[in-house]
Amino acid sequence: MSIQTGGKQRHRVVVIGSGFGGLFACKHLRKADVDIVLISKTSTHLFQPLLYQVATGILSTGEIAPATRIVLRNQQNVQVILGDVHDIDVAGRTVTSRMLNQDTVTGFDSLIVAAGAQQSYFGNDRFATYAPGMKTIDDALELRARILGSFEQAELSPTQEQRDRFMTFVVVGAGPTGVELAGQIAELADRTLAGTFRNIDPHDARVILVEGADAVLKPMGPKLGGKAHKRLVKMGVEVQLNAIVTDVDARGVTVKDHDGERRIEAACKVWSAGVQASSLGPMLAARSEGTEADRAGRVIVERDLTIKGHPNIFVVGDLMSVPGVPGQAQGAIQGATYAAKQIKAEVAGKQKPEDRHPFKYFDKGSMATISRFDAVCQIGKLEFSGFFAWLMWLVLHLYYLIGYRSRVITVFQWGVAFLGRHRGQMAATEQWVFARLALEALAGNEEDAREVRAETGNGRSSGDTANGNSAANESTAHKAG
Ligand SMILES: Cc1cc2nc3c(=O)[nH]c(=O)nc-3n(C[C@H](O)[C@H](O)[C@H](O)COP(=O)(O)OP(=O)(O)OC[C@H]3O[C@@H](n4cnc5c(N)ncnc54)[C@H](O)[C@@H]3O)c2cc1C
Repeated sequence: MSIQTGGKQRHRVVVIGSGFGGLFACKHLRKADVDIVLISKTSTHLFQPLLYQVATGILSTGEIAPATRIVLRNQQNVQVILGDVHDIDVAGRTVTSRMLNQDTVTGFDSLIVAAGAQQSYFGNDRFATYAPGMKTIDDALELRARILGSFEQAELSPTQEQRDRFMTFVVVGAGPTGVELAGQIAELADRTLAGTFRNIDPHDARVILVEGADAVLKPMGPKLGGKAHKRLVKMGVEVQLNAIVTDVDARGVTVKDHDGERRIEAACKVWSAGVQASSLGPMLAARSEGTEADRAGRVIVERDLTIKGHPNIFVVGDLMSVPGVPGQAQGAIQGATYAAKQIKAEVAGKQKPEDRHPFKYFDKGSMATISRFDAVCQIGKLEFSGFFAWLMWLVLHLYYLIGYRSRVITVFQWGVAFLGRHRGQMAATEQWVFARLALEALAGNEEDAREVRAETGNGRSSGDTANGNSAANESTAHKAG
């Protein structure tokens, strides 16, 4: 079934994506004489930088992912629709999106594509079965269930070998997400879970951060990377550099370093090692003569962030490839603001596309937290770390969180987690672990389905399968007292 939206009225702007790029594009067109349709395959505006706090029980999804239509409720020139865009007709100026089995065709005069990026497994997509990434709310909830499920299974493990496997957490990739996640798993074990089990001591948990490069947080330079590394080690995180993960399975990972290949037995694995642009990137490149996508699928855009021959089609955020612009929130916000400004000026008759000044990125710096009260921060040539950097991180993240309510609740939850040792969001369900695998099996082929069935004990969950661990047949006799 296919329906048509948006009859011709004012200048029509279609925005694809409700992340930083999509939302800021809409907000900057608030006063423009345009009708906007924002199409996104998710119903929320997700604040990805705090996903790791959802995964580790500090925040709930509500704080970091408000419903987009509620955020934009008062902006009368926007219509928000849910749909997965699967076709963009650049010449015919239409976008086709699908929700369930219904196609919707939306016409546009200007288009802003802000569809972002997904996790990349560098061609080894099957790793995702055992090592979820950190890109969506589903990922964060699945990870929370896997992390907490591992401790639960360790408590019931009859052998030391099994206990060790459940108490070992491998985080692949020592970028900001990997560092933050490793630090938080360590704090979760040492502070929140300490004293809550009777057979295991959560302090014994091993958190291993595996990185293919020779440094932690390499893009932030040796000084800040070194500080983060030292702090992680002090917290008990094992940092393994120059180590490439070559295989991931239910029971652990295979790592290759200068000594050859070795195994790390671990039930819970997290992948934060790479990104791949939305498939809309290569699609746009293929449909505009002379436009190319880079190796990660990002569109190599013109100096005004458009694609060749189509000055009305902008690509912004993680989907655009612009030298010197990192895949960070600031890049998306500034790109979206720029695109919105051009459209606004042109609709008002103040500028023509050929008069546009090129997009200029202003680097506001980058930061990463390592633990409570400790972060690293880089602003221009200024580099600092410790408590002051952490405070800056705190204020900045609060500033960019959408909504007064989210900010208040987040401050409260941070107080609970950072000043005390409790965390407010420790719920986890089996469905969070199994739903993705089951859906993939439904959508995929019989081979996938068989693999999932094997991992989940023929669809029936057992304690030992919550991490995609095929040791379902091992005895899990409860060790009393
Ligand atoms: C775990 C994590 C931590 C991060 N930490 C930081 C940080 O500390 N600081 C920082 O600056 N940056 C950070 N980033 C990066 C930052 O979040 C991204 O650079 C930013 O979100 C990019 O914005 P975007 O709008 O381009 O894409 P996104 O925010 O990813 O939004 C993409 C949107 O497009 C929608 N979409 C995708 N495909 C389709 C389709 N086919 N049809 C319809 N809709 C579609 C999605 O549903 C989503 O709404 C982090 C990212 C992650 C994953």
